[in-house]
Amino acid sequence: MALRIMNTLGRRMQKFVPLKKKTVRMYTCGPTVWDYAHIGNFRTYVFQDILRRYLEYKGYKVIQVTNITDVDDKTIRQSKATGVSLREYTKKYEEAYFEDIAALNIEKAERYPRATEHINEMVALVKRLVRKGVAYEAEGSVYFDISKFKTYGKLSGMRLEQLKSGARIDSDEYGKDEARDFVLWKGWRPEDGEVFWETAVGKGRPGWHIECSAMSMKYLGATFDIHSGGEDLIFPHHENEIAQSEAATGKRFVRYWLHSGMLLVGGRKMAKSLGNFFTLRDLLSKGHDPLAVRYLLMSAHYRAPLNFTEEALGDATKAIEALRETLRRVKTFTATTKRDNVELRKLLSREQLEFERAMDDDLNMPRALAALHRITRAVNRAIDQCKISGEDAKATHRLVSRLDKVLGIFAEEMKPDFLPPEAELLIRERDEARAKRDWATADRLREQLSAMGIVVEDTPTGTVWKRRSR
Ligand code: AMP
Ligand code: ZN
Repeated sequence: MALRIMNTLGRRMQKFVPLKKKTVRMYTCGPTVWDYAHIGNFRTYVFQDILRRYLEYKGYKVIQVTNITDVDDKTIRQSKATGVSLREYTKKYEEAYFEDIAALNIEKAERYPRATEHINEMVALVKRLVRKGVAYEAEGSVYFDISKFKTYGKLSGMRLEQLKSGARIDSDEYGKDEARDFVLWKGWRPEDGEVFWETAVGKGRPGWHIECSAMSMKYLGATFDIHSGGEDLIFPHHENEIAQSEAATGKRFVRYWLHSGMLLVGGRKMAKSLGNFFTLRDLLSKGHDPLAVRYLLMSAHYRAPLNFTEEALGDATKAIEALRETLRRVKTFTATTKRDNVELRKLLSREQLEFERAMDDDLNMPRALAALHRITRAVNRAIDQCKISGEDAKATHRLVSRLDKVLGIFAEEMKPDFLPPEAELLIRERDEARAKRDWATADRLREQLSAMGIVVEDTPTGTVWKRRSR
């Protein structure tokens, strides 16, 4: 079945067909490395990871590019305030970003270009826009003339009469009600200190929007398949990216625009400027499990707003623990019936289909997760009723591993986990002791196993073991 997604451009559901048959070219706006990212940012990055993983699940090869914004007002200001070079300052937060995405089990993009390493490409693009008469110089900076791009506003749905023609804005971030000619190249000012480049468009530094146009087109071509970010980037960032790129190339820039909803706190967008944020580190230092954070962030539909509370994180932790426990039971059941459970096997195929249908329907995660929960409920029931054969257990494990290629929440449970031979021997001796009602020996063996980090559980059909969670 085909994947259908909501394209922000045109605001309609569309069948996803990449330009090249089996390859998807995707650009995702990355972090500004001026501070630790907050979990609102990670909601968007987790969504992009699910998108990537589902495309891979469907057999596409994904070429993903994520930019690192390592020069802007904030990075310059902070590096000056702390008295270190811009590079030294941003390096720390860039590393933190990579640590955080690893903790959240986010797959790495193919490329992470840094803005500061692509100044030539940006300057070339600015020059091209000036040559075409859609950009102009004023007071040492270069601006894009939005009145020259006839379809300006097509992504955000803004009407042209709202535009203040001729008025300019130097800030990279501004509201929809103040659409203006935006800055492509910022002329040097004393507060920029050491941070500047001497280029053909003057001494200064790039604006934020031009960065993404230059780097995406460099690595993915003038037209590519997917561009995504949080919905707060629709205007002005993505609107401006379209204007610059399409004015320069005369070609369509991006085929599918995908935007995720905001993570809220008490109904308001989680944002550094509002001070209502949690970094991933904040949560991990309180003992939270990063994969529970991942589970929480992906559990709502990606376009819907999601309100963050620690209580919701607690619920996500319980949900993920229950899922893990089921998988452990499946993997460690040592005594099973020989008869296959036909009903269970049918349910597995049915729910796999349902999972795929849900994901094909604009990545409907709540529906996909519901299928996963039905699988684990059925499996638990089968284990409780001793109606699970070795083959059933393997089929379950195979299916959940496959679904986890998309979900990415079972890192530990998916690792092949073999019982060490000496532990297997102890379990067998213990079973024999129990059969002889020699409880003292059975208890002693249980303690020996426990010292090896293996916990045994007696069930009506035999012994189940698991590793003590760390
Ligand atoms: P920034 O570093 O501000 O450019 O943001 C990086 C990414 O996080 C962008 O895709 C933003 O749209 C996204 N983002 C920022 N705040 C939130 C939030 N509260 N919820 C979801 N995504 C967000
Ligand atoms: Zn961007």
